[in-house]
Amino acid sequence: QYAGLNLSAPVSLDAFWMPFTANRQFRASPRLLASAEGMYYRDVEGRPILDGTAGLWCCNAGHARPRIVEAVSRQGATLDFAPHFQMGSPLPFVLAQRLKAIAPRPLDHVFFTNSGSESVDTALKIALAWHRMRGEGQRVRLIGREKAYHGVGFGGMSVGGLPNNRKWFGPGLPAVDHLRHTLDIARNAFSRGLPPHGVELAEDLERIVQLHDPSTIAAVIIEPISGSAGVILPPPGYLQRIREICDRYGILLIFDEVITGFGRVGAPFAAQRLGVVPDMMTTAKGLTSGCVPMGAVFVSERIHEAFMQGPEGAIDLFHGYTYTGHPLACAAALAALDTYEEEGLFTRALELEEYWQEGLHALRGACPHIIDIRNYGLIGAVELAPRPGAPGARGYEVLERAFRRGLLVRVTGDTVALSPPLIVERTHIDDIFSMLGEVLATIQ
Ligand code: PLP
Repeated sequence: QYAGLNLSAPVSLDAFWMPFTANRQFRASPRLLASAEGMYYRDVEGRPILDGTAGLWCCNAGHARPRIVEAVSRQGATLDFAPHFQMGSPLPFVLAQRLKAIAPRPLDHVFFTNSGSESVDTALKIALAWHRMRGEGQRVRLIGREKAYHGVGFGGMSVGGLPNNRKWFGPGLPAVDHLRHTLDIARNAFSRGLPPHGVELAEDLERIVQLHDPSTIAAVIIEPISGSAGVILPPPGYLQRIREICDRYGILLIFDEVITGFGRVGAPFAAQRLGVVPDMMTTAKGLTSGCVPMGAVFVSERIHEAFMQGPEGAIDLFHGYTYTGHPLACAAALAALDTYEEEGLFTRALELEEYWQEGLHALRGACPHIIDIRNYGLIGAVELAPRPGAPGARGYEVLERAFRRGLLVRVTGDTVALSPPLIVERTHIDDIFSMLGEVLATIQ
């Protein structure tokens, strides 16, 4: 709570244009979170709200962890800002080393951004520049997937595959194509863990490569597990096959780990659990446990090396942000990493996976409209059939009623997604599913 602000006085909701929100509906029926600690938010009336979504897939260490809060506050009093263009400060160097140590080899270099969207656009630009630097400047085509979410920059929007995020904003980047997604409820409904069917969808990449000619393609970007589109999982072998096709044709593979990074699936990164190493990895969110905005792009040794071949005094990458390596964000990230490591949070999703899975799948009978339940690590999704003529209405009702019941969930269309802080205990898991079950039982 900002010092001096009296939250018992009415707050005018007019001026803040909220992102990805039905603003008029929200203003008529606001949901305002005023404080948070551990696994719980409190709303402006002081009611506890159990956090079933780690904020927005980001507060992996839980809320208001004293170590993180103190690190940020101390850093603010020591060095509030430092420029990192031709100038430096110690913390981003320390943080990059720490991140390198938990990343898969050979992702040995880290470029800092302020968000997932910026991480994605940074990785796409590095991919284009890398090919150009090697004399393959004709490789300008970027391949994403249908239903993908890669943030809201023009690059991420263009490779993204959610129609509403694209159609309002013109054509986006000119040379983009999309693979099909791997959500296949007809064959995989109610699978536990990775879905058994759909590995053949990786062959889409071969088809698209042949259509455009391999020598025109710069990179493929994929969320190993997509969250924003409603939790879409890769069939076993799918990512391996994508990796093989990329290698065959000299195409870079980028994993967008903005939601899967920092322990969400039981390893520091999904790349490690799923056994496929990309050429670049985009991250954000859990990097600071959501406490200060920050993103990071992990870059392989061979990509980084290519940029280091010019004259020593020449700038190697004409790209960056005023707040790249911001001291407060670095302090938050270092304290978050300490917390993750000391509390074993990178592997906690593995320990709890089965308990989580059983509780989630037990919801199947809670409501006749449930058409699928999906899970992996500490991620879960319950998909409802859309109400005829009103897609998204059931999903919104779940969000609204869960909030009033004391549970924060995330909804995309009619899919309810869950991703609790990794400090979640079995009793919290029980509470999440019992509240969600009660709410689902009321959905007509
Ligand atoms: N990429 C993925 C996979 C995401 O899930 C998100 C956000 O949910 C983003 C990128 C965008 O991140 P941000 O909202 O920090 O820009």
